[in-house]
Amino acid sequence: MSTVEFAHVTKRFEDGTTALDSLSLRVEEGEFLVLLGPSGCGKSTALRLLAGLEEVTAGDILIGGNRVNDLPAGARDLGMVFQSYALYPHMSVADNLGFGLRYGRHREAIDEPEIRERIAGAVDMLGLGDLLERRPRELSGGQQQRVAIGRALVRRPRVLLMDEPLSNLDAKLRNRMRLEIRRLHELHGTTTVYVTHDQVEAMTLADRIAVIDGGRLQQHAPPLDAYHRPANSFVASFIGTPPMNLVEGEAASGRFRSGELSFPLPEHLCDRTGPGFYGIRPESVRVREAGEAADSVPATVIGRENLGSTSVMHLDVLGHPITASIRAGPETDVAPGARIAVSLTHAAAVLLEE
Ligand code: ATP
Repeated sequence: MSTVEFAHVTKRFEDGTTALDSLSLRVEEGEFLVLLGPSGCGKSTALRLLAGLEEVTAGDILIGGNRVNDLPAGARDLGMVFQSYALYPHMSVADNLGFGLRYGRHREAIDEPEIRERIAGAVDMLGLGDLLERRPRELSGGQQQRVAIGRALVRRPRVLLMDEPLSNLDAKLRNRMRLEIRRLHELHGTTTVYVTHDQVEAMTLADRIAVIDGGRLQQHAPPLDAYHRPANSFVASFIGTPPMNLVEGEAASGRFRSGELSFPLPEHLCDRTGPGFYGIRPESVRVREAGEAADSVPATVIGRENLGSTSVMHLDVLGHPITASIRAGPETDVAPGARIAVSLTHAAAVLLEE
């Protein structure tokens, strides 16, 4: 069994910084969990605690149902891939791949033919065949990262931990490696915990995302659930590019009001009352002819970014900054300062209490 569980895990450093505050989270066998959050939110600390590189202040960490708080890092049977690839510079790719098997904790259990077979499998899978004799400095960043991933995988760990493994790569390579990591996961089904601040990585890789802010878990859900039904305004504004529009105000009598702005709530939110944040994704904002419909509200165009097939329009809606992502067409062909109308009433909108 290779489940992972954080049970009310708190980490307070000596200087008093609380990096994690009662984190409770379960990663199922074979699941790909992404810990997502801004810099300093505590995600690397969670991974380091799981790896045994830091000690928990309170709470328990379980791997395969067993408490591992007191188990040293080397005895936890984990594979780790970090942002810095940490390859041995004086060794060839082939030797780097085999090092952990030949000289690590597993060396007695695995004989040389098996080691060779595992390395050959990784080389094949990661397309490293032509590079086996090279030293790390003779490899590109993406190639080095593939070796680092291969080195972790050949050990067939119970759980694979990755901390921002793609952040040193350029955008194009990052996209490719992202697909590759997901493909490898589907092939091996190794329980994986992956740390990133990049929400696109989280959306595309994860079975479930754990969004963390200020050391606290904000939401633990499949990526599309977090996208469509964010638990709070932090998650709503952290996931999605451009982020979800949030208007702080009050719902009452089937309408949402904030200062001068007032519009009908969509049907599924009609019964809601009280203060909160009305959240609408940029792609759900619709441009209207002024006065065309009861739900249209006036907007002034602040600026627009043409991305080819879509146009991102930055609007001022009665004092509220609103972003609309609209298929490029005549209605998006407007200059800054133009007065238009939009509708914020949409079946995909959310009303968040905090
Ligand atoms: P990043 O993406 O920038 O790596 P992170 O979300 O991984 O950020 P952590 O590295 O887990 O964040 O750090 C969480 C908090 O704990 C931060 O406020 C950080 O400054 C603090 N912290 C981390 N390590 C220590 C330490 N050894 N001593 C004191 N505070 C620490």
